[in-house]
Order: sequence, then structure tokens, then C-alpha cells
Amino acid sequence: MTTTDLDISLVVPLYNESESVGEFCDAILPVLERTKLSFEILCINDGSTDNTLDLLVEKKKKIPQIKIINFSRNFGKDAAVSAGIDFAIGRCAIPIDSDLQDPPELIVDMVQKWQEGNDVVWAKRIDRSEDSIAKRMTANWFYRIYNLLSDLELPENVGDFRLMDRKVLEALKNFPERRRFIKGLFAFVGFRSAVVEYKRSKRRRGVSKWSYWKLWNYAVSGITSFSTFPLRISAYIGMFVTLLAFVRGLWIFLRVIFCGIDLPGYASTMVVLLFLGGIQLMSLGIIGEYIGSIYSETKRRPIYIVRDVIS
Ligand code: UDP
Ligand code: MG
Repeated sequence: MTTTDLDISLVVPLYNESESVGEFCDAILPVLERTKLSFEILCINDGSTDNTLDLLVEKKKKIPQIKIINFSRNFGKDAAVSAGIDFAIGRCAIPIDSDLQDPPELIVDMVQKWQEGNDVVWAKRIDRSEDSIAKRMTANWFYRIYNLLSDLELPENVGDFRLMDRKVLEALKNFPERRRFIKGLFAFVGFRSAVVEYKRSKRRRGVSKWSYWKLWNYAVSGITSFSTFPLRISAYIGMFVTLLAFVRGLWIFLRVIFCGIDLPGYASTMVVLLFLGGIQLMSLGIIGEYIGSIYSETKRRPIYIVRDVIS
């Protein structure tokens, strides 16, 4: 089958989703049929350790449009979505979470906006009231800091749920980087985009695979993969501290000249020592973060490894 024969490729990453699989397939099918377009459902089993795969195989018997890409282990959601984009043969692709947090009904509107000539159709969350206050606040800060540091404007409150035209998919495939901060890549490739709005609901079954530590790491690699500003921060702090030290030195010198030798200041010495030590460690950490990226990029390892494909 050539690419143009099929209209929609749905990309579904799944990691230990045995509780959601059935409900998801039952919800998605009528929506896709409503678009009156041809479609495939690419299920990427991201190294699930439960019986997600068996359930998918079982579902495939009833829904022949399901194709299963089975990873050799867990590679993370971004890798799973990347694999979906690589394997998709549709004229457009739509990544969607399997926990029904991305409302399937929205696909109809997205497809309509796509047929009107948009290359990317974002699903934008207008209400995050179901997320905890802490999560909403940290998300908010992240976007603020990100947009401040990076040259690219990151669209706020959009997730991985969006429609991408074939043109966009081909552009994305040309990015060789391993550390894929997909939202940033999107801002980078541009294209004509439209937005459909929705209210994000609670996860129906199972638990979120995102711990705060994972989210923090995601934010850090998001910032460092699109901005070198943090590298410059250490230089600015360094300059500022040097200036301070110079002024203080001058002051001590003048005091010695006019008032004689001062008492040995243990406290002030310690303060300066610790302060500088802290700044040096922080700067090293920032530089280390970038060197870490260089290291993982230069290894050129694959983003994911496919164990088998059931199509
Ligand atoms: N997921 C995945 N690999 C992972 C973690 C998650 O494929 O390592 C999938 C998961 O099965 C779900 C989607 O990514 O379909 C979103 O995961 P989750 O609901 O845990 O994230 P959240 O909604 O909290 O952002
Ligand atoms: Mg979720």
C-alpha cells in the first residue's frame, strides 16, 4: 500500500495499559468510522510487563485496522510516538494517549480542520482543573521559564494530542537527535496550524507513569535541548561575584590603610568560600548537563528497538 491510500494513522503508545486497552479501542472505533475516512490504529507496546500485548492481539482479531509494534523494552512515550510516526503510512497521523485523557471525539473536529488545509491541528487544553494544583503550577512555570530562555515560542497547554499532515511527518523524520523534546521540535518545524479546544479529563483507569522526578527531567532536557542560555547564566553569575569581590577587596584594603589590621574574620571567609563553592558546583552541573547531551547524541544509538510487528 502506498502512503496516499490511507487517510489517518492513529498512533497509540501503550505501557502497562491492560486496564485501559479495551475501553480505549471501543471508544475510538466509532469516532474513526464517523470521519468516513480510511484509517489504521498503530499500537506501540512500549515494553509493557503486564498483559497489554495479549489484549491487543485479542482486539486485533475484531478490529483488523489495528497494527501492533512491539518494543524490545520500555523506551518511554516520546520514543513510542517517534516509532509511530516512522511506521505510519496515512496521509496524516494523530498520536493519542490510551487512557482516554485525550477525548477521541475531538478527532472529528481535528480532521475537519485538516481538510480545510491546516498542516498541524493542536488539541489545546482550556481547563486543567482535574490536574492537581501543584502540577498546574509547575506546568505554568515551565512554560514561562522555557519561553523566556529559548528562542522558540512553545505553544502552551498543548500535549502530544494533535493531528499532523504527511508533510510534517516527513519533516520530523529528518531530525536525527536522540533526545527528542517533541514539543520543541514542533515549534521548530513550523507549518500552518490550527487549534481545537478541549477539557482534559481524569485518567479513567490505571495510574499515570509520570512521577515528579520524571517531569523534572523532562523539563530540564526540554530546556537544554533548545537553549544555551543556562550555559551563559554561570558566566553572568561569575562576573557579578567577581565584581562584588573586587569592591569588597578594595574596601578591606582601604580599611587596613586607614584603620590598621582588622581582626581575622573567620565568618566572612567561610561565607565567601561556601558561596563560591556553590556557584562553581552549579556551573559545573549546567555544563555537565550539556556535555551529557553531547555524549548521548554522539553515540547515535537508536531511539527505540522493535521486537516484532504484527500487522
Ligand atoms: N506511555 C508509554 N511509555 C511510557 C510511559 C507512558 O508508552 O514509558 C504511554 C501510556 O501508556 C499512555 C501515554 O503514554 O498511553 C500517557 O501516559 P500517562 O497517562 O502515564 O501520562 P500523563 O497522562 O500523566 O501525561
Ligand atoms: Mg494520562
